[in-house]
Amino acid sequence: MTRTGSQYRQGLNDGRTIFINGERVGDVGSHRAFSRAVDSIAALYDLTNEPATRKHVTYPSPSTGEPVNVAYMIPRSREDLRHRREGLRVWSESTFGLMGRSPDHVAGFLAGFAAAPELFEEVNKEHADNLLKFYEWARDEDQYLTYVIVPPQIDRSKPAHKQQDPHLYAGVKEERDDGIVVAGAQMLGTAAAISDWILLSCIVPLGEGDERYANTMVVPLDSPGLKIYARRSYADAATSVFDYPLASNYDESDALVVFDEVFVPWENVFVYQSLELVRDQWWKTPSHVLGNSQAQIRLWTKLDFLVGIAKAVAEMNGSLKAPPVQSMLGELASYATQVRSLVLAQEANAKVDENGVYWPGVEEVHACSAIQIELYPRMVGMIRELCGGGLIQLPSSRDDFLNPEASADIERYIQSPGYPSRERVKLLKLAWDILGSEFAGRQLQYELFYAGAPHLVKSRVFNNYDFARSDALLDEALTRYDLDT
Ligand SMILES: Cc1cc2nc3c(=O)[nH]c(=O)nc-3n(C[C@H](O)[C@H](O)[C@H](O)COP(=O)(O)OP(=O)(O)OC[C@H]3O[C@@H](n4cnc5c(N)ncnc54)[C@H](O)[C@@H]3O)c2cc1C
Repeated sequence: MTRTGSQYRQGLNDGRTIFINGERVGDVGSHRAFSRAVDSIAALYDLTNEPATRKHVTYPSPSTGEPVNVAYMIPRSREDLRHRREGLRVWSESTFGLMGRSPDHVAGFLAGFAAAPELFEEVNKEHADNLLKFYEWARDEDQYLTYVIVPPQIDRSKPAHKQQDPHLYAGVKEERDDGIVVAGAQMLGTAAAISDWILLSCIVPLGEGDERYANTMVVPLDSPGLKIYARRSYADAATSVFDYPLASNYDESDALVVFDEVFVPWENVFVYQSLELVRDQWWKTPSHVLGNSQAQIRLWTKLDFLVGIAKAVAEMNGSLKAPPVQSMLGELASYATQVRSLVLAQEANAKVDENGVYWPGVEEVHACSAIQIELYPRMVGMIRELCGGGLIQLPSSRDDFLNPEASADIERYIQSPGYPSRERVKLLKLAWDILGSEFAGRQLQYELFYAGAPHLVKSRVFNNYDFARSDALLDEALTRYDLDT
């Protein structure tokens, strides 16, 4: 089945524990800090039911034959990868690529785990069965998972088990006949507050002695003891939608997730205290590449959006015909093209594994993660340069338009040919919200870190690049001459 937006919204009012600004949130769907983000996610669910988009964003469930969300697809052909990409692109366009942990992100990771059940079975058959059962249920019930897979930044010089308290990082505190008790915290729960389930695991390397942290499990948001400490809400801080159109609608929130002795029944545990499996689940299954290919399809949409903003501002300012401005726009477009090309190349270079599963090209996924760290800040900087002081020379809020004296001056001086004041201000306020506002700053931090710290992301390229091609070329060049040539 595919859920509607209102079914998704109803599921959120379950007594979950969220704190923001010193208060416990009641219904997250109607709280000012979260409600518009909930609306944006609800709109995604509605897209899976609308006739025009349904065929792109769904595929038949292998269990029931009913249409289910394409984000849960285990691709078994290049055509599946294309179908998945088109569906994910439709979803990302709905949020302009601004919501990173929409329901299609972790769904890809879960599908990747389920695509390689033998890896889990080798370690524990029961836990592997739990995983498959949960994956199929989440897919067929259109569930929204987010994840926390990085220990909190406390002391990175020490391994997990040598932190000052064994229950700072989320790990097993007690084992019972019917399940486990988890204590500690994990970061950084983007959209956790507005999702249905949190997947708790660890993607950073763990070593001997860290076994209690080497787990993968799912936890429903209403679990007793599960606490979400959301960061400041940019949506709540926005003076109006007109002033902060992107922060108002697409602030998915991020949070510290605390497990205060949360009981997790065995059926929700997929990996239990296994250093090897908690590591291999990301790299020996298509999990990481499926999850990150979704992130890159979203990024492609976002870069197209940025290019559109840059061009519109240049046009409005009358600078579009200047060759240096066209050259900057060309450079910006080339970055969007690079990401699009890497996304498409993932399909062309997909590899099929022994289970018949098509993995998006691994080299391309890692390369895209690495270059986005460089190109996203460069694009933001270039567009700020193109926009100039106009980004700042703006009325303090939309209320200035409501004051007759102020609005007369604003309408006279803040306008461009073909762009009456209200349109100019509208475009530049939107531009500021992706380039310079607090929301924009968080977007930048997200693109730098969502796939891991930059040094780790780049070392993944090193580990996956086929250096044999380069080595062979260099060897060939060196063999063609010598001292006596
Ligand atoms: C906006 C945002 C949203 C996020 N959403 C999620 C989410 O939904 N789920 C989730 O699980 N995680 C999420 N993350 C967390 C993300 O996965 C982590 O930020 C990332 O893994 C990096 O870890 P860290 O922030 O602790 O940085 P650290 O590992 O502490 O690294 C910070 C910096 O320290 C330096 N450094 C540290 N160690 C080394 C070293 N060995 N060698 C060289 N330099 C080093 C580097 O400059 C590095 O960039 C999110 C992060 C951000 C910013």
